[in-house]
Amino acid sequence: MRAAIVLVAAFPALVAAAQDNNAAPARKAAGHGIAVGNIDSAIKPGDDFYGFANGAWVARTEIPADRAGIGVFAILADRSNKNVAAIIEEAAKSNPPAGSDTRKIADLYNAYMDEVAIDARGLKPLEPQLAAIAAIHDRHDLAAALGKTLRADVDLLNNAVFSTPNLFGLWVAPGFSDSDHYMPYLLQGGLEMPSRSYYLDDSQHMKDVRVQYHTHVTAMMRLAGFDDPEGRANRVIGLEHDIAGTHISLADIEDIAKANNLWTREDFGAKAPGLDWEAYFEAAGLGGQKRFMVWTPTALTGEAALVASVPIETWKDWLRLHLIEAYAHVLPHAVADEQFSFFGKVLSGVQQQRPRWQLGVNLVNADLGDAVGQIYAQKYFSPEAKREAQAMVANLIAAYHKRIDQLTWLAPSTRAEAQAKLDTLYVGIGYPESWKDYSGYEVRPDDAFGNSWRASMWEFEREVARIGKPVDRHEWCMEPQTVNAVNLPLQNALNFPAAILQPPFFDPEAPAVVNYGAIGTVIGHEISHTFDAEGSAFDSKGRVRNWWTTEDHAHFEEQAVKLEKQYDAYEPFPGVHVNGKQTIDENIADLGGVAAAYDGYRASLHGGEAPTQDGFTGDQQFFIAFGQNWASKTREAALRRQVLTDGHSPGQYRADIVRNSDAWYKAFDVKSGERLYLAPDERVRIW
Ligand SMILES: [Zn+2]
Repeated sequence: MRAAIVLVAAFPALVAAAQDNNAAPARKAAGHGIAVGNIDSAIKPGDDFYGFANGAWVARTEIPADRAGIGVFAILADRSNKNVAAIIEEAAKSNPPAGSDTRKIADLYNAYMDEVAIDARGLKPLEPQLAAIAAIHDRHDLAAALGKTLRADVDLLNNAVFSTPNLFGLWVAPGFSDSDHYMPYLLQGGLEMPSRSYYLDDSQHMKDVRVQYHTHVTAMMRLAGFDDPEGRANRVIGLEHDIAGTHISLADIEDIAKANNLWTREDFGAKAPGLDWEAYFEAAGLGGQKRFMVWTPTALTGEAALVASVPIETWKDWLRLHLIEAYAHVLPHAVADEQFSFFGKVLSGVQQQRPRWQLGVNLVNADLGDAVGQIYAQKYFSPEAKREAQAMVANLIAAYHKRIDQLTWLAPSTRAEAQAKLDTLYVGIGYPESWKDYSGYEVRPDDAFGNSWRASMWEFEREVARIGKPVDRHEWCMEPQTVNAVNLPLQNALNFPAAILQPPFFDPEAPAVVNYGAIGTVIGHEISHTFDAEGSAFDSKGRVRNWWTTEDHAHFEEQAVKLEKQYDAYEPFPGVHVNGKQTIDENIADLGGVAAAYDGYRASLHGGEAPTQDGFTGDQQFFIAFGQNWASKTREAALRRQVLTDGHSPGQYRADIVRNSDAWYKAFDVKSGERLYLAPDERVRIW
């Protein structure tokens, strides 16, 4: 279900966990083609393909102190951030008129950079909110206060953001059965740590994390000036522990069949008693909304019961902590540093905070992403690059059409609908066709806290206002300056932002075979999501409809289980395995992406062979380029967290998906007995 090619880190608490870096590019910068200097030819491709393609890079690369990890995506994200920084600088210099987007970009950034003013204000900006929490006297007040924290901060099918520290998360998207209109979706929430495992797992690692979390919450309560910080920390963490107990796992969240629950307003009181839903929805501005899609019904029931059973004073402390955590980045440095010491250092292994300007760029990207993106696309994405990327996408779609035609395991009716899905697929390249209108978002040059508060309210109100309106299938869910790619199943659409369409992923001057191995496999990955366990739940119009036969499903399931077992066997740390079920959609997408990109590359040769370069045949270059997409180094804490909370497998195992491709065996003469070797009937073939 994580349709994006990599996980996007949430802002702001997890900013330090985002994977990027300043180190030398993973692919050679001077030449065009695979990065020969990154290969470790002492490693046999059949034993460890990832190590072969990236071993020399891994050996010489160090994770910078302010990063949780580094890799190709991160290197490009750094380049994109530098470009955005230049855009911000120019915006500030041009003395733009009041109210213009350019003025807002400059003011948002400058207000954040003024640390002296932020420190001088102390916690004063929080006073109205803290007073409102103090004034909660009964469960009705509590429900209203909880309703006021609802934000549009999760994304269940596109960017795949599955956690929110607020009681619940809201996602506004096309409806499951009526994909022509926007519907509100509700998701479980309420935890500060990344997932239920952090509260419930028995491992020593998690026990240690919980001890440090207790220290952190106590420190935050003390910094906020509350008495008995330790007692408050105990109670708040106890409540979060109970909330975690109501949560379903990530693998279950990814199961569309479990998410299809349409609740009327009356259902909430009947199915999830305990929370005063009337007060909750009214305070959230959703008082008139009659129907919701409830993604995690058992968790809503469990959490609503906790609102009734846990003492109001405990909930008030929970609200206080969650308020301070949400805005720590725009509060005095003592608060921001304390947050980093836990969320950056403990949860991700990062040693030091990033330079302030980088955090400022992240903030502008988060709150005025389209305003910056519009300038970015104009400056950094040429019409030629757009044309070439479009041609490549067309080749990949043609490759899929052919593959689907030849799939004997799909019933003819299923094949026809699959082809229809490809025909109606909207592929956005570089930048969106329309931009967000920020005229309703007020930015002040001297109010860092208020700017962030208003940004999340503006976004929330914008989303709520869309409910019931007709769906714009061409709408994007990523900005042009984002290094990522995404499939939007309810819109049957793909987005390939400008920032990923550059070297080393996409280099018009590189041999075509290398582009097919690098960006081609990414494009193929996104197209494949159209037909994976998630994509196959939606038809060519984006509706939830079963268009597969029982036999189709049985075959698909049998192959998927084989792939799950392959990934379950990978063990990044002793006793810690990749979760084959949680990562199945992404692994299938990688599998399909490589297969389709390989076909596309072969078709582009019209029966010929790609020239050998640097001693590598065309096929070898194709697979090496793919393997080099996944060059990455990640700190232990961050990797443990990824294994628990990300639908994507760690990069190393993504590269090794090639062991299912017959062409890879031929290209590198891989033989039985080598570690990645699979007998032909053990190789997983889906698309
Ligand atoms: Zn994906």
